[in-house]
Amino acid sequence: MVDTKFINHCNDFDGFLKKSKKAFEERWQMKFESNAKLSEFEIIKTLGTGSFGRVSLVRHCSQKQKIYAMKIMEKAHLVKLKQVSHVMSEIRILDAVQFEFLINMQYFFKGNVYIYLVMPFINGGEMFSHLRMQRKFDEMLAKFYAAQIILAFEYLHNLGIIYRDLKPENILIDKDGYLKITDYGFCKKIDNSRTYTLCGTPEYLAPEIIMSQGYNKSVDWWAIGIIIYEMSAGYPPFYAKDPLKIYEKIVSGKFVCPPHFSKPLKDLLNAIIQVDRSKRYGMLKNGARDVKAHDWFKSIDWDAILYKKVKPSFKPKVVDPEDSTNFDRYEEIELRESEIEEFPNEFAEILLKT
Ligand code: ATP
Ligand code: MG
Repeated sequence: MVDTKFINHCNDFDGFLKKSKKAFEERWQMKFESNAKLSEFEIIKTLGTGSFGRVSLVRHCSQKQKIYAMKIMEKAHLVKLKQVSHVMSEIRILDAVQFEFLINMQYFFKGNVYIYLVMPFINGGEMFSHLRMQRKFDEMLAKFYAAQIILAFEYLHNLGIIYRDLKPENILIDKDGYLKITDYGFCKKIDNSRTYTLCGTPEYLAPEIIMSQGYNKSVDWWAIGIIIYEMSAGYPPFYAKDPLKIYEKIVSGKFVCPPHFSKPLKDLLNAIIQVDRSKRYGMLKNGARDVKAHDWFKSIDWDAILYKKVKPSFKPKVVDPEDSTNFDRYEEIELRESEIEEFPNEFAEILLKT
C-alpha cells in the first residue's frame, strides 16, 4: 500500500534539503572571521569534558539573561594530538549548519592559548545520563529519538558531511524533550569521496573503519543501528572490556538481541547492523527511505517529528535556563594565560574580529 503521507514527507524533505544545501554552501564560503572575545563572557562552571577540551556554562556580560555553552580547546593540545584540521572543520560546520536537531554556533574566537566555540546551552543533559538512569528507553521513546537522529544525518549527508561520532554522550536533550546533536569534532566534508581516518568510539565503529577500508556515510548508518540497539537494550550490541575484543565482535557482525525487543526492531537492526555495505539499510538504492519506511517506524509521522508537533514521553527536569543539574560535576581548572599568541600559523585561518 502506498503511504501518501510518507511519500509527501519524503518529497517535501528532499526540497528542503536542496534549499538548505545552497544556504550551507554560501555560509561555508564566507570569510572565517571570529565574532566575539573572551572578555564578553563570564565563565560559570564546567558542563562536560572530552578528549579535546572542556565545555563550560557561560553568561554573556552585557546581556545577562543570555546563557551559553562554551567549548574551550587548548591550541597546544590540538597541535600535539594533530587535531588542527579536525577543529577547523568542526568550527566551519558548527557555523554553517542550520537544522532543528543539530547544535549550531553563536560565536567563535581565538585567544593566545585557546580556541573558543560558543553554542546555545542545551540544559536537559546528555542522552547518556538519562539512558543510564532509566536503564533503557521503551521502544516508543527510542523510536522518537532515532527519528530525529535519522533526519539530522539525512541533512548532514546531503551536505556531503559525515558525522562519525554518534554516541549517547554527544546527544543532548533540550528542556522540551527534543534532541540536539553536538560535537562535530570528527565531522568531515567528504562530498563524494572516501576517507580512511580511524576515529570514533570503539563500540560505535563500523567494521569498514576497523578493517581500514575507505568509507563514507555508511559508517553513520552503522552507528544509527548501534544507538537504536543501545537505547532499547541499555547496552551496546558489541561489548567487551578490551577494545580489540570489541573490534573482533564488530567485524564478525554477530550480535544477540534481548528477548524483549519487538520483531520489527530485531528486523531493522539486522538490516542496519550489516557488515556487508551492499546490504546495509541506508546504503541501498533508496537511501534513508528504506530505513524510514521500515515497519518499526510505522507509527512515526516524520513531518510531525520534524516540526516538533509530537509530545515527547520524557522531558528532563529543568527549573530555569541556567539550571545545570542535569550535568555531572567536574573539577574546575584555571585557564592558562600567555603574553604571546601561541601557534599563530596553525590557526591563521581563523581571522581576528575587525
Ligand atoms: P569527545 O571526547 O566526545 O571528542 P569533545 O572534547 O569533542 O568530546 P564535546 O563532545 O563537544 O567535547 O563536549 C563535551 C561535553 O560537553 C558533551 O558531551 C556535553 O555533555 C557537553 N556539551 C557540549 N555542547 C553542549 C551544549 N551546547 N550544551 C550543553 N552541554 C554541552
Ligand atoms: Mg563528545
